[in-house]
Amino acid sequence: MYLIFGGRSGEHEVSLMSARNVLEAIDKSRYEVIPVGITREGRWIRSGDPLKALLEGVERGGGIPVALLADPGVRDLVPLASPGDAAPGVSAARPSGDPPAVFFPVLHGTYGEDGTIQGLLEMAGVPYVGCGVLASAVGMDKAVAKALFAQAGLPVVPHRVFLRPRWEREPGLVAAEAEAAFGYPCFVKPANLGSSVGVSKPKSRSELEGALAEAFRFDRKVLVEAAVDAREIEVAVLGNDDPVVSVPGEVVPGREFYDYEDKYVEDRARLLIPAPLEPAQAEEARRLALAAYRCIDGAGMARVDLFLERGSGRFYVNEVNTIPGFTRISMFPKLMEASGIPYPELVDRLIQLAIERWRDRQ
Ligand code: ATP
Ligand code: MG
Ligand code: MG
Ligand code: MG
Repeated sequence: MYLIFGGRSGEHEVSLMSARNVLEAIDKSRYEVIPVGITREGRWIRSGDPLKALLEGVERGGGIPVALLADPGVRDLVPLASPGDAAPGVSAARPSGDPPAVFFPVLHGTYGEDGTIQGLLEMAGVPYVGCGVLASAVGMDKAVAKALFAQAGLPVVPHRVFLRPRWEREPGLVAAEAEAAFGYPCFVKPANLGSSVGVSKPKSRSELEGALAEAFRFDRKVLVEAAVDAREIEVAVLGNDDPVVSVPGEVVPGREFYDYEDKYVEDRARLLIPAPLEPAQAEEARRLALAAYRCIDGAGMARVDLFLERGSGRFYVNEVNTIPGFTRISMFPKLMEASGIPYPELVDRLIQLAIERWRDRQ
């Protein structure tokens, strides 16, 4: 199995944390794991210890190793049939016709979660963990995802989409339009990113202008949304055609909202698993999560983020994360664990799902 991490993304560091946990958890008597790091500049590192190289900021590596994708030699590295088939770390030769090694992109954000590497792996004809090209691209683009959710009758927060050229031309008009639509506070976010990178909650015109400038640093497309006073409910989905839907969890942010600091720097956000919900609310959350997953044609896995508005009790579908945070203490693995699938088994299932999807597409 090739574990790919790092990458050209605002979430580069998050990917390294996820990858470290997967590397530690994976059953090495069943899988030979070949780590592949991608630097911030997009150079691929295959030799030595790529995780260490990225953590230490050592920049060495080359272009996309097409040979790695096409090399028939890697076909030996499929998961072994059962534990004990071979000594740890040793791959067993497989009869021909078996799938080639599985690729596991533990990459968050651009060039990883957005369909680009999925396209590369698709063209190479290799199985890979998680969503395909379309679901990845749609899940990453909050504007397109919301349009599809709305069209499927799923509740989405009122929002507007702005493009950089217009904002560069008439920043005052863009701010005035957003202000008139949503007032304060509102939320400003890049369309294609995650981990709350570039997300802000402006409370005044000048903050809104700053928030737009910040979001446009990361993307040519930016959303401004109404701020919802809401509890944050997250649901994990695992599977291809007939997915498992986890119990809902709840994030209680330690800061004003669940921003980057709160997710990865401070340690004050609390994860409640299962979320303290009425049974009917929990069912509604799971129903919406599955509907959102199907709406983008999800496969493998995703974490669906919902808002449960205080007062009205209304749910909104916020977004689908197709490569959710994957450390042992991340919400996705914890939700799966609470639903009867512990971390090592989760990795196993993802690999099996990758092979299943690959077979379906042959
Ligand atoms: P990730 O992929 O890590 O979940 P993200 O960068 O894709 O995050 P969102 O999940 O859309 O971004 O937003 C990040 C956080 O900002 C949310 O978890 C929530 O705390 C807050 N937030 C975003 N939009 C709204 C909104 N419209 N109303 C209230 N809070 C919001
Ligand atoms: Mg996200
Ligand atoms: Mg994300
Ligand atoms: Mg989110």
